[in-house]
Amino acid sequence: MSKQFEGKGAIVTGATRGIGKAAAVELAKRGCNVAFNYASSAEAAEKVKAEIEAQGVKAYAASCDVANTDAAAEFVKEAKEALGSLDFLVNNAGITRDTLILRMKEDDWDSVIDTNLKGAWNFAKAAVRPMMRNEGGGVILNISSISGVVGMLGQTNYSASKAGMIGLTKALAKEVASRNITVNALALGMVATDMTDEMNAEFRDKILEQIPLGRFAEPGEVADIICFLLSDSAKYITGQVIQADGGLAM
Ligand code: NAP
Repeated sequence: MSKQFEGKGAIVTGATRGIGKAAAVELAKRGCNVAFNYASSAEAAEKVKAEIEAQGVKAYAASCDVANTDAAAEFVKEAKEALGSLDFLVNNAGITRDTLILRMKEDDWDSVIDTNLKGAWNFAKAAVRPMMRNEGGGVILNISSISGVVGMLGQTNYSASKAGMIGLTKALAKEVASRNITVNALALGMVATDMTDEMNAEFRDKILEQIPLGRFAEPGEVADIICFLLSDSAKYITGQVIQADGGLAM
């Protein structure tokens, strides 16, 4: 395995499981120092941290609610100190609270918008300044969803949050391009994680039938796409929404 990210530092939000965990471990395998936060899974975080360290790189993990602006700023500061540099931010932490709008509670709306959209803004805001000081700039990758591109039933809150991340991506890309910081959104389709395990089985099967590639993505293959988008091979891409969805929303 080539150590393409040797000496670099990455923050991946929400990396105790699923896509975040796969991305954090893959980055470490490629030589990157990795910091991550989580909401409540302290035990799982310890295991992921050990997996990262086993690759011979630095790891930093702490509990930090992405929706809390001050806590996010503190986390980014401590992560940068622990890793030595901050080159990449992957805004991955996210939740769903699916239900039709007539049944959706105000708290279902607020918690999804606060975690998915405000959380990404909080971390981007804190990460931009240290990235501006880097000679090589930096990369911010926002993990969005095709739900934010085409809208999905039962997800007025989630679709709005993921569409919001796309607007955030484009506006920020324009603000920081002159500092050699690129900002993109990765709009995923269906990935086999706890998030999709929790979906109504009938609804999940219906979506599966609509995926031209005929399967959900595995977190590991999403991690490879994330590594590509953070790499020098993608350095001329900014302000874009890259769709990786098995053809679901073409
Ligand atoms: P997941 O398996 O449910 O994992 C979510 C991660 O986010 C966990 O590490 C969780 O930490 C963390 N998290 C949740 N709320 C947080 C908060 N307030 N502060 C800090 N960390 C928090 O999710 P996933 O399926 O891997 O999804 C990852 C991202 O991809 C999300 O943004 C999701 O919207 C997006 N996405 C997923 C799919 C899919 O099909 N799975 C499709 C499109 C987009 P704890 O373990 O402590 O709770």
